[in-house]
Amino acid sequence: MSATPDIVVVGSINADLVVRVARHPQPGETLHGTGGGVSPGGKGANQALAAALLGGHVALVGAVGDDAHAEGALALLRASGADLDAVRTVPGPTGLAVVTVDARGENTIVVVPGANATMTAPSLDGDADTVSAARVVVLQGEIPRDGIERAASLCTGRLILNPAPVLDLDRDVLLAADPLVVNEYEAGLVLAQLVERPASPEDADAPEATLRALLAEGAASVVLTLGAAGALVGTRSGVDVDVEHVPAVAVDAVDTTGAGDAFTGALAVRLAAGDDLAAAARFAARVSALAVQREGAQPSYPSLEELG
Ligand code: ATP
Repeated sequence: MSATPDIVVVGSINADLVVRVARHPQPGETLHGTGGGVSPGGKGANQALAAALLGGHVALVGAVGDDAHAEGALALLRASGADLDAVRTVPGPTGLAVVTVDARGENTIVVVPGANATMTAPSLDGDADTVSAARVVVLQGEIPRDGIERAASLCTGRLILNPAPVLDLDRDVLLAADPLVVNEYEAGLVLAQLVERPASPEDADAPEATLRALLAEGAASVVLTLGAAGALVGTRSGVDVDVEHVPAVAVDAVDTTGAGDAFTGALAVRLAAGDDLAAAARFAARVSALAVQREGAQPSYPSLEELG
């Protein structure tokens, strides 16, 4: 790897195969789609791209397969200048998300992990120095649990953990995050795990109480994203807790796919630059507001110039 990257993302890389249909097919039924295509995706790749486009010095640690989808899955990352030296090619398919969107915008998603399933703890042996040298390490929930936990244990800088989809991660890993980045649904599930009780719908309905409970359990900081309602930023210093609401930027949203990943990538850039968490979240809200005004996930992410 050339120079030490400030931000290292360890995570998933997918090809998103999106098909548009008037209505979802029944089992056994064949329908004509109204459109579709393949675009790059995966939460790790999305967050790495968002950060790289915003001027972050970013490296992605991940895996693609030796199939036809691999190159497309990395195309925008490659163009962004992100460091892909630690993306390996393994035998078998690249991670694939098959997304079917109907006329009402309702979707069904099937994710085949493919090469992402090889991102286990031992697979990170060769990347240990890269991860431990990073100022900011960014992790999500789309690689195997032991890979996430190993990457977290290698982090000597600041750990941003976006446990989506929610995995049953080690308590110490959840509490090492600074911040834990979760939406309402994920916040409730992580809290239920930390307090060892079943998840309750009330956790998602009362986000500020859930955020305060996460901090009370020992989280150093939490960013709880609320879609068009913005985000709550909670920090704890000893017994002192501070909660700030960061509003979303009011825009006409066209497609919110990947908004959370744009937000997390932007957060990483500003935290690596030394901003405090609330300031970083205000920047991330501007970035994701631009992303929701364009179609798709990665193709919707803005550059620093576009932010003005
Ligand atoms: P996804 O899984 O779709 O990527 P998420 O559930 O992880 O999303 P959200 O809470 O939906 O994340 O969105 C993250 C951030 O993006 C919000 O905190 C907000 O700043 C911004 N955002 C999302 N939706 C909108 C919107 N309709 N208008 C403006 N900003 C938005």
